[in-house]
Amino acid sequence: MKIVAIGRNYAEHAKEMNSPIPDEPVIFMKPDSAIIINNNPFYYPEFSKNIHHEVEIVYKISQTGKNIAKQFAYKYYEEIGIGIDFTARDIQNKCKTDGLPWEKAKGFDGSAPIGKFQSKSNFENLRNINFHLDINGKTVQQGNTGLMLHSIDDIIAHVSSYFTLKKGDLIFTGTPVGVGAVKIGDVLTAFIEGKELLKVEVK
Ligand code: ZN
Repeated sequence: MKIVAIGRNYAEHAKEMNSPIPDEPVIFMKPDSAIIINNNPFYYPEFSKNIHHEVEIVYKISQTGKNIAKQFAYKYYEEIGIGIDFTARDIQNKCKTDGLPWEKAKGFDGSAPIGKFQSKSNFENLRNINFHLDINGKTVQQGNTGLMLHSIDDIIAHVSSYFTLKKGDLIFTGTPVGVGAVKIGDVLTAFIEGKELLKVEVK
Protein backbone atom coordinates (compact mmCIF):
# COMPACT_ATOMS: atom_id res chain seq x y z
CA MET A 1 0.00 0.00 0.00
CA LYS A 2 0.98 3.61 -0.26
CA ILE A 3 0.27 6.81 1.59
CA VAL A 4 -0.59 9.85 -0.48
CA ALA A 5 -0.49 13.12 1.41
CA ILE A 6 -1.75 16.56 0.47
CA GLY A 7 0.15 19.69 1.40
CA ARG A 8 -1.24 23.21 1.95
CA ASN A 9 -4.88 22.16 1.91
CA TYR A 10 -5.96 24.67 4.55
CA ALA A 11 -5.44 28.36 3.80
CA GLU A 12 -4.50 29.35 7.36
CA HIS A 13 -1.83 26.66 7.51
CA ALA A 14 -0.36 27.72 4.15
CA LYS A 15 -0.22 31.24 5.58
CA GLU A 16 1.57 30.18 8.79
CA MET A 17 4.18 28.42 6.59
CA ASN A 18 4.55 31.52 4.38
CA SER A 19 3.60 29.26 1.46
CA PRO A 20 1.41 30.32 -1.46
CA ILE A 21 -2.06 28.75 -1.75
CA PRO A 22 -1.80 26.25 -4.62
CA ASP A 23 -4.26 26.00 -7.56
CA GLU A 24 -4.13 22.22 -7.51
CA PRO A 25 -3.40 19.77 -4.68
CA VAL A 26 0.25 19.57 -3.59
CA ILE A 27 1.05 15.84 -3.47
CA PHE A 28 3.75 13.89 -1.69
CA MET A 29 4.01 10.30 -0.53
CA LYS A 30 5.15 8.31 2.45
CA PRO A 31 6.21 4.65 2.31
CA ASP A 32 4.27 2.00 4.25
CA SER A 33 7.16 1.84 6.75
CA ALA A 34 6.04 5.27 8.00
CA ILE A 35 2.88 3.86 9.56
CA ILE A 36 2.38 3.47 13.31
CA ILE A 37 -0.74 1.59 14.42
CA ASN A 38 -2.27 0.42 17.72
CA ASN A 39 -1.24 3.59 19.58
CA ASN A 40 2.40 2.51 19.53
CA PRO A 41 4.98 5.17 20.43
CA PHE A 42 6.85 7.42 18.02
CA TYR A 43 10.63 7.40 18.43
CA TYR A 44 12.15 10.83 17.92
CA PRO A 45 14.66 10.41 15.07
CA GLU A 46 18.30 11.41 15.58
CA PHE A 47 18.54 13.24 12.26
CA SER A 48 16.17 16.05 13.23
CA LYS A 49 15.93 18.67 15.97
CA ASN A 50 12.54 20.01 14.91
CA ILE A 51 9.81 17.41 14.44
CA HIS A 52 6.40 19.02 13.93
CA HIS A 53 2.94 17.56 14.42
CA GLU A 54 0.36 17.95 11.64
CA VAL A 55 -2.99 16.38 12.53
CA GLU A 56 -4.98 15.32 9.47
CA ILE A 57 -8.16 13.54 8.44
CA VAL A 58 -7.23 10.32 6.64
CA TYR A 59 -9.31 8.45 4.08
CA LYS A 60 -8.82 4.76 3.32
CA ILE A 61 -9.24 3.70 -0.31
CA SER A 62 -11.70 0.80 -0.65
CA GLN A 63 -11.18 -0.33 -4.24
CA THR A 64 -8.74 0.03 -7.11
CA GLY A 65 -9.26 3.00 -9.40
CA LYS A 66 -7.50 5.10 -12.01
CA ASN A 67 -8.65 8.34 -13.63
CA ILE A 68 -11.58 8.47 -11.22
CA ALA A 69 -14.08 11.19 -12.08
CA LYS A 70 -14.89 13.54 -9.22
CA GLN A 71 -18.59 12.59 -9.22
CA PHE A 72 -17.71 8.92 -8.69
CA ALA A 73 -14.91 9.45 -6.17
CA TYR A 74 -17.21 8.71 -3.20
CA LYS A 75 -17.38 5.06 -4.37
CA TYR A 76 -13.68 4.66 -3.62
CA TYR A 77 -13.70 5.25 0.13
CA GLU A 78 -15.78 3.85 2.95
CA GLU A 79 -13.73 4.73 6.04
CA ILE A 80 -12.39 7.86 7.66
CA GLY A 81 -9.72 8.13 10.31
CA ILE A 82 -7.25 10.54 11.84
CA GLY A 83 -3.50 10.58 11.61
CA ILE A 84 -0.43 12.67 12.25
CA ASP A 85 1.84 13.72 9.42
CA PHE A 86 5.06 14.05 11.45
CA THR A 87 7.38 16.38 9.60
CA ALA A 88 11.09 17.03 10.15
CA ARG A 89 10.66 20.77 9.64
CA ASP A 90 14.39 21.53 9.73
CA ILE A 91 15.04 19.02 6.95
CA GLN A 92 12.00 20.14 4.98
CA ASN A 93 13.15 23.76 5.12
CA LYS A 94 16.57 22.75 3.83
CA CYS A 95 14.97 20.69 1.03
CA LYS A 96 12.80 23.66 0.08
CA THR A 97 15.76 26.07 0.09
CA ASP A 98 17.80 23.67 -2.02
CA GLY A 99 14.89 22.95 -4.38
CA LEU A 100 14.95 19.26 -3.47
CA PRO A 101 12.10 16.75 -2.86
CA TRP A 102 10.66 16.49 0.67
CA GLU A 103 10.73 12.72 1.16
CA LYS A 104 13.40 12.66 3.87
CA ALA A 105 11.43 15.23 5.86
CA LYS A 106 8.07 13.52 5.44
CA GLY A 107 8.47 9.79 4.83
CA PHE A 108 10.79 8.62 7.60
CA ASP A 109 9.98 5.68 9.87
CA GLY A 110 7.07 6.38 12.18
CA SER A 111 6.07 9.60 10.45
CA ALA A 112 2.48 8.44 9.91
CA PRO A 113 0.64 7.29 13.06
CA ILE A 114 -2.97 6.45 12.25
CA GLY A 115 -5.89 5.82 14.55
CA LYS A 116 -9.01 3.72 14.39
CA PHE A 117 -11.12 4.17 11.26
CA GLN A 118 -14.83 4.91 11.26
CA SER A 119 -17.44 4.16 8.62
CA LYS A 120 -18.20 7.25 6.54
CA SER A 121 -21.88 6.53 7.16
CA ASN A 122 -21.29 7.75 10.74
CA PHE A 123 -20.98 11.26 9.38
CA GLU A 124 -23.88 13.28 8.07
CA ASN A 125 -21.75 15.66 6.04
CA LEU A 126 -18.14 14.85 5.10
CA ARG A 127 -17.57 18.56 4.48
CA ASN A 128 -18.34 19.36 8.10
CA ILE A 129 -16.22 17.11 10.29
CA ASN A 130 -14.54 18.65 13.34
CA PHE A 131 -11.21 17.25 14.47
CA HIS A 132 -8.50 18.29 16.88
CA LEU A 133 -5.15 17.38 18.40
CA ASP A 134 -4.16 17.64 22.04
CA ILE A 135 -0.64 17.53 23.42
CA ASN A 136 -0.48 16.55 27.08
CA GLY A 137 -4.18 17.33 27.36
CA LYS A 138 -4.02 20.80 25.81
CA THR A 139 -5.59 21.45 22.38
CA VAL A 140 -2.99 22.64 19.86
CA GLN A 141 -4.74 22.16 16.50
CA GLN A 142 -8.38 22.31 15.58
CA GLY A 143 -9.86 21.87 12.12
CA ASN A 144 -13.04 21.34 10.15
CA THR A 145 -13.08 19.54 6.82
CA GLY A 146 -15.25 22.34 5.40
CA LEU A 147 -12.08 24.47 5.37
CA MET A 148 -10.22 22.09 3.05
CA LEU A 149 -9.25 23.91 -0.17
CA HIS A 150 -9.56 20.64 -2.12
CA SER A 151 -12.25 18.17 -1.04
CA ILE A 152 -11.55 14.45 -0.76
CA ASP A 153 -13.41 13.94 -4.07
CA ASP A 154 -11.24 16.59 -5.79
CA ILE A 155 -8.14 14.97 -4.29
CA ILE A 156 -9.08 11.47 -5.46
CA ALA A 157 -9.84 12.72 -8.99
CA HIS A 158 -6.54 14.57 -9.16
CA VAL A 159 -4.33 11.94 -7.53
CA SER A 160 -5.82 9.04 -9.54
CA SER A 161 -4.99 10.77 -12.81
CA TYR A 162 -1.32 10.23 -11.91
CA PHE A 163 -1.30 7.18 -9.62
CA THR A 164 -3.58 4.16 -9.59
CA LEU A 165 -5.24 4.02 -6.20
CA LYS A 166 -5.49 0.59 -4.62
CA LYS A 167 -7.54 -0.90 -1.83
CA GLY A 168 -5.91 -0.03 1.50
CA ASP A 169 -4.07 3.06 0.27
CA LEU A 170 -4.34 6.02 2.63
CA ILE A 171 -4.88 9.66 1.80
CA PHE A 172 -3.76 12.28 4.33
CA THR A 173 -5.81 15.35 3.50
CA GLY A 174 -3.67 18.18 4.89
CA THR A 175 -3.34 19.91 8.23
CA PRO A 176 -5.12 22.94 9.66
CA VAL A 177 -3.34 25.88 11.29
CA GLY A 178 -1.37 25.40 14.51
CA VAL A 179 1.48 23.05 13.64
CA GLY A 180 4.37 23.03 16.09
CA ALA A 181 7.25 21.09 17.56
CA VAL A 182 6.95 17.96 19.69
CA LYS A 183 9.43 16.81 22.30
CA ILE A 184 10.29 13.54 23.96
CA GLY A 185 7.73 12.72 26.64
CA ASP A 186 4.80 14.44 24.90
CA VAL A 187 1.57 12.48 24.59
CA LEU A 188 -0.46 13.34 21.50
CA THR A 189 -4.15 12.48 21.30
CA ALA A 190 -6.26 13.04 18.20
CA PHE A 191 -10.04 13.31 18.05
CA ILE A 192 -12.83 13.32 15.46
CA GLU A 193 -16.03 14.99 16.70
CA GLY A 194 -14.73 14.78 20.25
CA LYS A 195 -13.99 11.06 20.11
CA GLU A 196 -10.40 10.03 20.87
CA LEU A 197 -9.18 7.79 18.05
CA LEU A 198 -5.40 8.02 18.26
CA LYS A 199 -2.80 8.30 21.01
CA VAL A 200 0.94 8.55 20.42
CA GLU A 201 3.69 9.03 22.95
CA VAL A 202 6.93 10.62 21.75
CA LYS A 203 9.88 8.55 23.00
ZN1 ZN B 1 0.66 17.38 6.29
